[in-house]
Order: sequence, then structure tokens, then C-alpha cells
Amino acid sequence: MKKIQMVDLKGQYETIKDQIATSFDEVLSNTAFVNGPEVHAFQKELEEYLGVKHVIPCGNGTDALQIAMMGLGLQPGDEVITVDFTFAATVEVIALLQLTPVLIDVEPDTFNIDIEALKKAITPKTKAIVPVHLFGQVANMEAVMEIAKAHNLYVIEDNAQAIGANYTWTDGTKQKAGTIGHVGATSFFPSKNLGCYGDGGAIFTNDDDLAYTIRGVVNHGMYERYHHDVVGVNSRLDALQAAVLRAKLPLLDTYNNRRKESAAKYTAALNGEESIVTPVQTGEADSHVYHQYTLRITNGKRDGLVKYLNENGIPCGVYYPIPLHNQKAYTDERYNEADFVVTNQLCKEVIALPMHTELEDDQIEFITTKIKEFVNV
Ligand SMILES: *Cc1c(COP(=O)(O)O)cnc(C)c1O
Repeated sequence: MKKIQMVDLKGQYETIKDQIATSFDEVLSNTAFVNGPEVHAFQKELEEYLGVKHVIPCGNGTDALQIAMMGLGLQPGDEVITVDFTFAATVEVIALLQLTPVLIDVEPDTFNIDIEALKKAITPKTKAIVPVHLFGQVANMEAVMEIAKAHNLYVIEDNAQAIGANYTWTDGTKQKAGTIGHVGATSFFPSKNLGCYGDGGAIFTNDDDLAYTIRGVVNHGMYERYHHDVVGVNSRLDALQAAVLRAKLPLLDTYNNRRKESAAKYTAALNGEESIVTPVQTGEADSHVYHQYTLRITNGKRDGLVKYLNENGIPCGVYYPIPLHNQKAYTDERYNEADFVVTNQLCKEVIALPMHTELEDDQIEFITTKIKEFVNV
């Protein structure tokens, strides 16, 4: 059996090595290192793949979220609702822009935004909602969009973990995750489902005016060379990263299918085990792209299991160990523990297993056998 990796970037690289080398050579010989034709071509190809009018590449996923909020013109004091159970970047940019983060609980099965909690959290100051498609599963966007419409709120999708996932509306129409709200943000961090070999990110929107505004924001607030109309940032995707992303984008569906196959094998092996809750998929088969495969260990043995797996050469992760409302940077007297029952519990129960495009059957077999060995005794 090959050594088990949490994310096998090297194994995947080996399969596309020649193409990457050719693309890198091209970029190096034409020396358009930033915002050149390579970046533009990637932008067009991603727009086509996602079925979205505008993709604006930028430096990373955190910038993408921040720039989306700047583009919408959110102002200090505006309340922005997001989930307590996510990577800190989501709430970080809200706080950085001096907006008021309003953290709410998630659903225990999907780990995504709790619609009842969302309804309760809306005040006259609420301006935007940031659903996070956590671990690769699209949030309940139909409900989120309905609430946003009723209250005249913006929806900013944090799609860092679910690129390529589809959302199916009640009427059967499908839309790609990240293209449903007013604006979407994604990350091309190497371990993400569409990862480059450094940092990268992008913003998506179907709104022409917003796209225009955002293209200026990413470039120092410039709409005409050396005319700075708004306070912007400097956030760019470089051409070498775009070359990697161009090589990988045509493989994204295959990559996501590989993840789904591995997820199904994990679930088949672990389903029905007492004290183990396997990931619940609520939508259609294409609504979850398994950025992470996350179990809940309900008998209090999660931390012991992490240790046991590590001792057996099996890497694993706890995403996330501390609810955001309890993080020093984001704690606030507005918050009440009784409003975070699910997140508080998930932080004690979740464990993410190795998940990537190169997982092999004997590895899955070994991992699931070790898990059962430990959890059942
Ligand atoms: C990775 C991630 C981000 C941030 O992306 P970076 O490219 O690392 O800045 C934001 N939100 C979520 C949910 C993420 O998983």
C-alpha cells in the first residue's frame, strides 16, 4: 500500500506533469507574468465552465470574499450574517471591512447554514448573507435566495470548497455553486478541488455593473489608468498559476467524480457503525464534491481516534476545532451559547479523513478498518 496522504498533490501532479511543463515554458518565454493572455484565457474558460457572465481572477480566496464585499459597497456597521462553523477567512474579511459579523448556527446533517437561524438573525441593519458551501456541499440556496429577496439582502457565496458542485432548484434547473447569489468567491489554494501551485482566487457574478466595479477594486480602484476612483486593493492571479488552472479545469469534473467515488467507498464501509455518522447528502448526486469527507464520532472518542489514526500512519484533520464565536478575535457579548448548540457539538465530533483524487481502494480499506477497530471497542 502506498503511504496515505491527507491530500496527494504530488500524485496528481505526476499525471499532468508534461502539460504543466509545456505551459510553464510558454509563460516563461513570453514573460507576461501577471494578467497576461494566460490569465485572460483561464478567465474565459472558467466563465464557460460555470455558466456565469463574469469571472474576475484575484490573489486568493480570502481576497475574493473581501473584494466581493467591497464591490457591493457594504459600509461599516452593516450587518453580515454568516455561519459559526467555517474557516475563519469568511468572518475575517467582514470584520476587516468594519462590517458587523453576525454568526449563526448550522444544520447538524449538512453542516451548512441553518435557515431558521438565518431568519431569526435578520435585523433592519442586515445587508448581506454569506452562505458557505462547506466541505463541498451546496447550501440550501433556494431558501437563502428567497429570504434575501424578501429582505432586500445581498448573497455572497463562499464557494472555496465546492467548485464544480451543482445546485438543483425545485423546478429541476441546475446552477453551479458560486453563481447563484449576487456574487461568489472561490479559492485556488493547492488543496482545494481546483487548486493551483501557489495562491489564487476568483470572484463570480452575472451582474455587469458589479463586475465592472470589482474589476476596478482588484486593481487599485482604477477604471482608467492612474485614475483612482475608489479605494481598491492589489489582488492578482499570476500567469503561472493560471497555466496550472487551465491544465486542471478540463479535469475538474473527473477529479470531483474521483472524490465522490472515494466518499461512497468510505460510506459503504462505515455506514451503520454505532457512534459514526457518515456525511449526509441532501441534494442530488452532483450537489456535493467532497472537498472534505467528514465523519461525526458521537461517543466522545474523536480526539482518541485522531491520535490512533496518526499512530497508524493515517493523517486526518479536525475542521474546525473551535466555533468562530469562541475565537478570541471574533467573540462578542452579543452571542449566546444556546444559539450555537450544533456548531459547539460538531467541533467536538468531526473528523475529516484523507480525501483527494489519488486515493486507492486498499488505502480506504485500511483507513476504515482502523476506524472501526478503534471506535467499536
Ligand atoms: C480556503 C477557504 C477560504 C480562503 O481561501 P484562501 O485562498 O486560502 O485565502 C475561504 N473560505 C473557505 C470556506 C475556505 O475553505
